[in-house]
Amino acid sequence: MSDCIFCKIVAGEIPASKVYEDDEVFAFHDIRPVAPVHFLLIPKRHVESLAHCGPDDEALLGRMLTLAPQLAREQGLAEGFKTGINTGRGGGQEVFHLHIHVFGHKH
Ligand code: 5GP
Ligand code: ZN
Repeated sequence: MSDCIFCKIVAGEIPASKVYEDDEVFAFHDIRPVAPVHFLLIPKRHVESLAHCGPDDEALLGRMLTLAPQLAREQGLAEGFKTGINTGRGGGQEVFHLHIHVFGHKH
């Protein structure tokens, strides 16, 4: 998706503060954090939203969700954290490349 800002971040065309990367998943700090620690976990391949996922995406979604607590711990959120997936315009989604918000306070 040539016009997708998060695809451009994955491709290194737009700078981002990287938290984690593997073959399928990329994570980086949110540019407008709502908490002292706030990062986004995204699939490397372009998936528009949670509403565009099907059975073929189960492994990817599972991978993203199980990574969330690991990365949260590494970012200092040892006592817990919040997650969110805004889906569709009505769900407050502004960037139409699936992402999990992970945010919280260091304790
Ligand atoms: P949404 O409302 O779609 O769930 O959230 C999109 C998030 O992406 C917002 O929290 C926003 O701050 C973040 N964001 C938008 N553009 C950029 C960017 O270019 N770089 C980074 N790091 N975050 C971005
Ligand atoms: Zn994309």
